[in-house]
Amino acid sequence: MRIASIIDVSLVDVPGIPVTVIFTAGCNFDCPYCQNANIIPLNSGMEMSVSEVLSGASGHLVDGYCVTGGEPTIQKELPDLLKALSKKGDFHINLNSQGSVPSVLEECIPYLDSVWLDLKASPTRYEKVCRTKHSPWPNVKKSIDLLLKSNVDLWPRTTYAGNLLSPQDIVDIIDILEELGFEGRYVVQDYVPSSGVRESEATNLTRPKKEDLEEIIDEASGGVEVDLQFR
Ligand code: SF4
Repeated sequence: MRIASIIDVSLVDVPGIPVTVIFTAGCNFDCPYCQNANIIPLNSGMEMSVSEVLSGASGHLVDGYCVTGGEPTIQKELPDLLKALSKKGDFHINLNSQGSVPSVLEECIPYLDSVWLDLKASPTRYEKVCRTKHSPWPNVKKSIDLLLKSNVDLWPRTTYAGNLLSPQDIVDIIDILEELGFEGRYVVQDYVPSSGVRESEATNLTRPKKEDLEEIIDEASGGVEVDLQFR
C-alpha cells in the first residue's frame, strides 16, 4: 500500500484520544483546498507492506490509531491493516475518509470504532468541488448508509472554503443527514490557508465568515447538531 508518513503521537485527530496517525498516499479527488496536495498523486508516498506499516506505527504511548490520507479506501490492503491494528489490543481505531469507495469501507467496518466522514458539498455540486469526472455522491451516500447501519461512530465533517461552498450547501448537507437518519454532531470547519495547499489554488479561496453560517445553523432542526469550528 502507498504510505506518505506516520506521525508517532497526535492529540488532535481523535477527540480525547492520543493516537498514532498513518497517512496513506494518493487520492481519487482533487479538492482545491487540500492541505496535503503533495500526496494527491496516486504514485506519491512509498510502497509498504502491512507488516512494515505496523512496525512503523508501533511502540508509541497512544490509545489508538488514526488512518488518514490521501484517501485510505483506495488502498486495497486497508482492511488488512485495520484488522492487524485492531488485533494489537484495546485501541481506538479511527478512519478518515470521503466515502467514495463503499466496497472497501464495508470490509473495514468490523475493525473500526469511528470514522470522520468528509462531506464535500451538497449532492448536486459534489463533482464540482472534488473535481471528479462523475459525481461520487451515490457512493458517498452508500458509505453513510453502511456506517449508520453499523456500530461504528459516524462523525460527519465539512471543510467550508469561501468562493467554493455557500451556506446553502451546508443546509443541503444537514437536510441529507437528517433524511438518512443521522443524529449527532456535524462539524463544519473553516478553510485555513496552509503551506500544504497549492499556491495556484489558495489564491482563489477565501476564509469564510462565521456569521454567514450562524444564521442558517440556528434554523437547523432535527437530530443534527451543527458544530461550527472556526479557527
Ligand atoms: S479528499 Fe481529502 S486528500 Fe483527497 S483531495 Fe480532497 S482534501 Fe485532499
